[in-house]
Amino acid sequence: MCLRGCYDKKAGGGSLLPGQGSLPRLWGRKKSSVSEPVAITSEALTTPETPASEPLRNADEMAASLNQKVDALVKASPESAKKLEETIAALEKTYLSGNAAGAPEDPIARLGRGFQTFKTNHYNKDTALFDKLKTGQWPKYMVIACSDSRVDPATILGFQPGDAFMVRNVANMVPAWEPKGGYPSVSSALEYAVKHLKVEHIIVIGHRLCGGIKALVTTEEGQGSHDFIESWLEIGKPARAVTKALAGSDDVDEQCKFCEKESVNVSLTNLLSYPWVKEKVIGKKVSLHGGFYDFVEGSFQVWDFDVTISHSKKY
Ligand SMILES: [Zn+2]
Repeated sequence: MCLRGCYDKKAGGGSLLPGQGSLPRLWGRKKSSVSEPVAITSEALTTPETPASEPLRNADEMAASLNQKVDALVKASPESAKKLEETIAALEKTYLSGNAAGAPEDPIARLGRGFQTFKTNHYNKDTALFDKLKTGQWPKYMVIACSDSRVDPATILGFQPGDAFMVRNVANMVPAWEPKGGYPSVSSALEYAVKHLKVEHIIVIGHRLCGGIKALVTTEEGQGSHDFIESWLEIGKPARAVTKALAGSDDVDEQCKFCEKESVNVSLTNLLSYPWVKEKVIGKKVSLHGGFYDFVEGSFQVWDFDVTISHSKKY
C-alpha cells in the first residue's frame, strides 16, 4: 500500500501518485533557446496573463505561471543571463514554499516538491557521484551539530552526499564515555564513524543564538520544566561553570555567546574519553576540530583541538 504522495517508480521523473499529479516543467527549460536581445526590467518579471496582484490558487497554477515567466525570460538578451538566473532562483524558492497566496501549506506536497527539486538539480545530474554512493560511503568528516533548523552543516559548509557522517542534537553535545549507559545515540554514531567508516576529522559545530545553550546558561539547578532537555544539557555543565566564572558578570546574551563556544570545547574534550577516539587522535589518524557558526553576522570560525601527549619520566 502506498499512501498519498508516494513516488511511483514506474512513472519516472518522480511523478506523484493521485492527489498530486505530475510536477510541472518548471526546471525543464532549454537554456539554449535564447533569441533576439530584449531589455529586462523589473516589469518583465510579471506576465500579462498573471498580474502580480492576482492571487494564485494552487501549486500547479503557480508553477504554470512561473513557467510562463521563465519562457518569457529565456528570450532575453545574453547580457541578462545573470538576472535571469537570479529570477529563476527566486521563482523556484517561491514555488517550493507553495504558499505564495497565503494558503495553508500541504506538507506532503511540500516534501514532494523538495525531493523533485533535489532529484532534478542533483541526483539526475551528478550520476557519477550517486552511482558511486550506491556501493558504499567513505566520508572523511564526522560532524556533530545542533538540531537547530538554521544551522544545517551541509548547507553552510557545502557538504555533498557522502562527504560527512552527521549527528545532530540539542546544543551539539557529545556525552563523555559511559559504557552501557542509556540509549547511546551519539556514542553509537561515533563508534561507527571512527571504527568502520574511518573518518579522518571530527568537528563539533556550535552556533549563535542556540536555544539549548541559553537554557543551560539561564536555568538554575533543579528548576527545569522539561521531561528531557535539562537532563540532556547536563553534559554541558562544565561549560556553564566556566562561563559563570569568566563571563558571569556579562549580560545573558554575552554569557550565551561565551558558552556556545565553550560547550564545543567540552564536547571535544569528551570525545577523548572514548578510548578508540583517543587512540586515533594520538596516532594522528583522526583530527578534532571546533566550529562556530554565527548566522547573525554571517561568519564561520573553525579551530583545531590540539592534543599534546607528553610522557613523564621518573628518575
Ligand atoms: Zn542550538
